[in-house]
Amino acid sequence: MAMESLGVLLLHPMNAYLEQELDSRFRLFRFWDSPPDGRAEFLRANSSAIRAVVGNAGYNADAALIDALPSLEIVASFSVGIDRVDLPKCRERGIRVTNTPDVLTDDVADLAVGLAIAALRKIPQADRYVRAGLWKAKGDYTLTTRFSGKRVGIIGLGRIGLAIATRVEAFDCPVNYYQRTKKDCPSYTYYPSVVELAANSDILVVACPLNEQTRHIVNREVIEALVPKGLLINIGRGPHVDEPELVSALVEGRLGGAGLDVFEDEPNVPEALFALDNVVLVPHVGSGTHETRQAMADLVLGNLEAHVLKKPLLTPVV
Ligand code: NAP
Repeated sequence: MAMESLGVLLLHPMNAYLEQELDSRFRLFRFWDSPPDGRAEFLRANSSAIRAVVGNAGYNADAALIDALPSLEIVASFSVGIDRVDLPKCRERGIRVTNTPDVLTDDVADLAVGLAIAALRKIPQADRYVRAGLWKAKGDYTLTTRFSGKRVGIIGLGRIGLAIATRVEAFDCPVNYYQRTKKDCPSYTYYPSVVELAANSDILVVACPLNEQTRHIVNREVIEALVPKGLLINIGRGPHVDEPELVSALVEGRLGGAGLDVFEDEPNVPEALFALDNVVLVPHVGSGTHETRQAMADLVLGNLEAHVLKKPLLTPVV
């Protein structure tokens, strides 16, 4: 089969290089070209041509989309997390699924450490202080909290979690972790539950995949265990955290602070957080560097080409 005969549905404008290469190598369909109320008709009209879907962390092949595409053969996600792909349905239909592991690990780990330091040392807040002319007007900035040496508890010591662990070791931070399986790494302390992990950590970092067991894995009980002055870092997925509980713990001063890359209902962020100076908020940018997004795009393209050539997929999930 020729490359250009593979009909690829790109769900959202996610990366200019990816879009351009999909367009030149395959037969590209841009989902956003049809108005939201014309999409069902668009899918009906092109259902036999579309054999691949490219989604990401925000838009992916859910049950309704898969059902509307009877010729779908492969879902190539421009993300490592595939919580928005209906995996059981893909397995049932024999649809292959690929993601973009490893190439984004360093960037996401860098951001996790950056958020922790930024939140404790109040870097964005201090920047705003200088910009507002307050240094001159009011004098020295308030004291902040040390990062080096703090106990870091990681939920999910996988690729990203491990990369966070090796980074914080360089800051003399003891590393604790929780996941389903205890790892053979004696320098990190395993806790068999998230509550115990939180109770023994100063900084709790969410780095596991989103699934039914990990939805709201950071709930009120976990937040209570992390108090009084704990810091929550979330670079996993928004729904890992019970957001209203987090917001009330922060507003009521029960939690020390938070550094958040992801939110329950992106791009909607609870406005109560905007007024707090103990949180650092960034708009889901964990893998958002030129270098990594290009490498992720190359993996998506490589997986689609391997599929057409009937070669082993580069990074298969299903
Ligand atoms: P990974 O290598 O598969 O690691 C995931 C880890 O989570 C594993 O060690 C796993 O250990 C643990 N885990 C899985 N299910 C769990 C459960 N039910 N309870 C507790 N721990 C569980 O994945 P990764 O490449 O590090 O990526 C992790 C996640 O980060 C992705 O799924 C994605 O959602 C998120 N992410 C976010 C961004 C961003 O921009 N913010 C970017 C990339 C990735 P066990 O199987 O032993 O439990």
